[in-house]
Amino acid sequence: MNIILLGPPGAGKGTQAELIEKNRKMVQLSTGAMLRAAVAAGTEIGKQADAIMKSGGLVSDEIVIGIINDRIDEPDCQNGFILDGFPRTLPQAAALDDLLKKKGKSLDKVIEIKVNDEALVDRISGRFSCAKCGAGYHDTHKPTQKPGVCDKCGATEFSRRADDNAETVKSRLMAYYRETAPLIGYYFAKDKLQSVDGMAQIDDVTRQISEALG
Ligand code: ADP
Ligand code: ADP
Ligand code: ZN
Repeated sequence: MNIILLGPPGAGKGTQAELIEKNRKMVQLSTGAMLRAAVAAGTEIGKQADAIMKSGGLVSDEIVIGIINDRIDEPDCQNGFILDGFPRTLPQAAALDDLLKKKGKSLDKVIEIKVNDEALVDRISGRFSCAKCGAGYHDTHKPTQKPGVCDKCGATEFSRRADDNAETVKSRLMAYYRETAPLIGYYFAKDKLQSVDGMAQIDDVTRQISEALG
């Protein structure tokens, strides 16, 4: 099964993708994480994306489409993938349709995670992740079980994203409403859309997504 998780920054896409990946034989494809890795590695793509990401804008369609096009050919994607943070514009959605068709693959479902705007700032400002394995946490909503130790891998180093600050969040929300929200209608019209209540507790959102996926 191949699915998309759709929702504003901080909605819980990464959190749910991590859990779906654990529960089913599917791999999480986060364009945000791939771009952050490119920035950290100082690649050509990373150099182009760095300033844009810091400002909360969107990286060019061409770059992210190229990244996804290559990534879904990898062997680990053949059992199914969870797109987290892609597509984010209508041209990206159209390009995804084309490239899946060319590769003889299909898109099964698009899960929209609905969250109130006021909750997003709180979710983003409390977000941190394990520096070693990338597991995601939140200061109050999802702390590590043992303080300062990653539940998943036992590492003790954590990091916070450079773009998770109050000013950039506003730009990212703007980009979401301007560029990404139209995808909700796009996938509704294609009979792919299912919405879940992202204001619920993390476990409950997981349960709703499981039901939607069948
Ligand atoms: P996204 O990938 O959509 O930007 P994340 O999955 O990183 O969002 O979630 C943003 C923050 O909110 C994280 O710190 C995460 O632990 C927390 N979070 C995710 N889902 C929920 C939820 N249902 N309730 C409360 N906090 C949540
Ligand atoms: P969020 O928590 O906001 O959902 P992501 O990790 O998905 O964050 O993305 C972080 C940043 O990476 C975005 O603000 C944007 O600059 C860039 N980015 C990620 N995915 C895309 C995409 N599909 N198209 C354009 N830019 C992207
Ligand atoms: Zn870890």
